[in-house]
Amino acid sequence: MSQTPSKKVSVVIPIFNEEANIPSLLPRLMPVLEKLGRPYEVIFVDDGSRDRSLEMLLAEASRFSGRVKILELARNAGQHPAILAAFRHVTGDYIVTLDADLQNPPEEIPKLLTLMDQGYDVVGGVRQHRQDRFYRKFASKIVNRMTVLMTNMKLRDYGCMLRSYSRDVVDQINRCEENSTFIPALGLLFARKPTEVEVAHAARSAGRSKYSLYKLIRLNFDLMTGFSVVPLQLFTLFGFVVASGGVFFGFYLLVRRFVLLRHSEAEGVFTLFALAFVVMGILMAGIGIVGEYIGRIYQEVRARPRFIVRKVHTGQPQGPAKVGLEA
Ligand code: UDP
Ligand code: MG
Repeated sequence: MSQTPSKKVSVVIPIFNEEANIPSLLPRLMPVLEKLGRPYEVIFVDDGSRDRSLEMLLAEASRFSGRVKILELARNAGQHPAILAAFRHVTGDYIVTLDADLQNPPEEIPKLLTLMDQGYDVVGGVRQHRQDRFYRKFASKIVNRMTVLMTNMKLRDYGCMLRSYSRDVVDQINRCEENSTFIPALGLLFARKPTEVEVAHAARSAGRSKYSLYKLIRLNFDLMTGFSVVPLQLFTLFGFVVASGGVFFGFYLLVRRFVLLRHSEAEGVFTLFALAFVVMGILMAGIGIVGEYIGRIYQEVRARPRFIVRKVHTGQPQGPAKVGLEA
């Protein structure tokens, strides 16, 4: 058959203030990659870390010269833009994304690659026995369910970042210039033969999650608005349903007032209040949803760079391979 085992693997790892995890990351990852018996590279993206992450990564890169590259971003761009920055620099046939905190065990990478060898072009991890806070797991469940409904893309675990993409899919992703995006969904958009596989999940090995509740909500809105206009359609639909309900209800009240009761009545004021609050709340949420889309359109129109690569460090003795800004 084909010589799939020689396919090169690129592992992309975004790093934002992960000095506590870097010392244990490479000792876990490198043996796994060595054992694959195929060419590989590891690309770290320092996403504007303010701790010693970059310094530590540079030391690692010189130890594994030629196999470890570091993209230094000028400022914090976010996990997804950071991965997109790395996608422009990967040279592998299979591109694997991995978190730095060892929540996705590197030992699971061969599982994904076996499926890639079988011809799948996107392989997503499904976290088994997820080790996260209760509210994160609960929120993920809702988001996964809603995403399936709204985008019609059938995935069991959108949030798992241990995933593998073919060169082809990454090339297509690289053609996208969008600001707010969600890479697993984007990958799926271009996949011809995607699949999912169960992977182990661990608690964060050290340090704290880089996602505040606010950042998490923003990210999920990126997923919803970036891949579907169903929220807008639901809002419109709700408007129509309430308006038609109002017309019928008004008609009923009229009949009741003049035909059935033949006198005026003024009760149920508080019920009216409750109803008014519900409808007002939904209206405000709806305006907010419209705003989410408009805000993102505004961002796209300004077309500011999503990330700025300050330097690419290859760990070679002659220093940075490339100096200059790239956006
Ligand atoms: N990350 C990043 N930029 C950010 C936030 C996170 O590069 O602005 C990286 C982070 O260093 C880690 C990965 O993205 O490697 C996942 O982040 P984290 O573990 O904090 O997310 P969680 O597992 O809590 O969803
Ligand atoms: Mg994590």
